[in-house]
Amino acid sequence: MRRISVFGITGSVGESTFDLLMGQGGPDAYRTVAVTGGRRVARLAEMARALRAELAVCADEACLDDLRAALDGSGIAVAAGDAALADAAAMPVDWAMNAIVGAAGLVPSLRALQAGAVLALANKESLVTAGPLMMATAAAHDTRILPVDSEHSAIFQALVGEDIAAVERIVLTASGGALRDWPLERLATATLAEALAHPNWSMGQRITIDSASMFNKAMEVIEAREFFGVSPDQVEVIIHPESLIHSMVGYHDGAIMAHLGAHDMRHAIGYALNWPQRRPLPVARLDLAQVGQLTFRTPDLVRYPALRLAREVMQAGGLAGAAFNAAKEVALDHFIAGGIGFQDMAALVEAALARLSTEMRLGNAVPTLEDVRAMDHLARIRAGEAARGLQKNR
Ligand code: NAD
Ligand code: MG
Repeated sequence: MRRISVFGITGSVGESTFDLLMGQGGPDAYRTVAVTGGRRVARLAEMARALRAELAVCADEACLDDLRAALDGSGIAVAAGDAALADAAAMPVDWAMNAIVGAAGLVPSLRALQAGAVLALANKESLVTAGPLMMATAAAHDTRILPVDSEHSAIFQALVGEDIAAVERIVLTASGGALRDWPLERLATATLAEALAHPNWSMGQRITIDSASMFNKAMEVIEAREFFGVSPDQVEVIIHPESLIHSMVGYHDGAIMAHLGAHDMRHAIGYALNWPQRRPLPVARLDLAQVGQLTFRTPDLVRYPALRLAREVMQAGGLAGAAFNAAKEVALDHFIAGGIGFQDMAALVEAALARLSTEMRLGNAVPTLEDVRAMDHLARIRAGEAARGLQKNR
């Protein structure tokens, strides 16, 4: 039986992963080593029981007693806190899914790779903050990362049997998010609820807001560069409101290979789960005649400054990705809390990055985990200062 672990199983990608695992035989087909969650303890316990996991871990230490009570008599071990999460990720498995949101996903990613697991990676922050370290760790432990972000899964699939040297460009599709048809001057007034009304995908709260601001796409541009090893100018973004083409690869001979499917994360998760095979998946089948037409537009960099910032981050290299992600997380926290406006998020990130231009330099060295953590910490401080500046001016 394949040994597996799922980190962040209680989230949006985690729930879809659980759904697929149960549909493919659950505990009769997989030996589940560890499952982890944040604060949804009752759900975490339910999933741990259903999969007959060996260990359940909640990231929040305050939840340990509740988790212990919920799993009493089940024979499933419990633990809590960041160190317990890292230890759980280091337990040997054949396949691990990292569906944690945010920078907290990096250590579990690295631990899983160091333990030799094939890592199904939804946590794009791992690659944005520490791409060279992630790729080097996978290589050093003779294992690999399978992308789960739908765009990167699409590209990965469009590359099967091809030589990466024959790739001319990678075209990431973007829905444009909840506010894509708003007049530019109204964007500054967008509320949390408005930013959360995603037209196509149902996802966690943070990535949904990041879709409206295109910070999510900015992260994905960096993620694509790191994962596929292409140069920054080979990664393009196109708005595709129907979200049915999940991304494309353009080759030197002019051919473009596109990946299409219904917008359901179980496509990408299922591909990573069953890779290198394809197994039937419980997703809707596309009826293109009914869809009728697919449309595209060029993203406006004034409307989406995050895309411009992604270019600058890639040019800067070093620890710029770690700084970018941390500043973006702080900006998002402030927007969710109502402290800054929708458009202020990009202004905040830009201001924080400007103050870190010296510290983010690293030459050609592969960053260490300590480098990345130090930059994450510093960028949160700078972003906090920038937030106070913006709040004063409101
Ligand atoms: P989510 O918020 O729904 O779930 C996040 C999971 O991480 C939960 O289990 C939560 O308990 C856990 N978690 C949160 N903070 C944590 C912390 N500090 N330490 C440990 N665990 C913590 O998020 P999601 O939408 O499922 O996204 C997960 C990741 O996948 C993100 O990196 C996101 O960008 C990426 N992703 C998501 C989708 C999607 O459809 N939701 C698509 C592509 C990529
Ligand atoms: Mg995506």
